[in-house]
Amino acid sequence: MKSIKEKVTDWVLDRIHDTRLDSEKLSLKNHFFYFKIEGFCDEPEIFLVATTFGLEWGYNTFIWDGPSIPLPTKKLTRKLPWGTLKSMNREQKKEKIINEMVKAVTSKKREYRRCQYCNKKMHLNGFYDNKTCSACAEKHLGIYIVY
Ligand SMILES: [Zn+2]
Repeated sequence: MKSIKEKVTDWVLDRIHDTRLDSEKLSLKNHFFYFKIEGFCDEPEIFLVATTFGLEWGYNTFIWDGPSIPLPTKKLTRKLPWGTLKSMNREQKKEKIINEMVKAVTSKKREYRRCQYCNKKMHLNGFYDNKTCSACAEKHLGIYIVY
């Protein structure tokens, strides 16, 4: 099985090849490319997008505006300005982009933790407190959670 670094490397090289994602001038701007973290929990996706600022990483999520309406939004987690890439040669650029992307994947993974009761690993959103998922909080702690 390929490591996450190998998967990210293949994926980044494809994007650079297809859309010149390493180039401030030639890259396709404001197009979100999605990378799925395969085999990890619910297989979350992170995006990579080229903007006028540089390359940016993040993921899609929701914010609650009012009591019950979730609005889709994008959360940015990493940024790499074009200015940083400018002075690099092609190999250095590739390496830098791959390293930044691995960090973006790692920070997404850190949002997941294991429940002390059911031992399932899941996203923080599914937790009642640091160690207990919402379902187990109801079952084991007798806490009734209003969603
Ligand atoms: Zn649990």
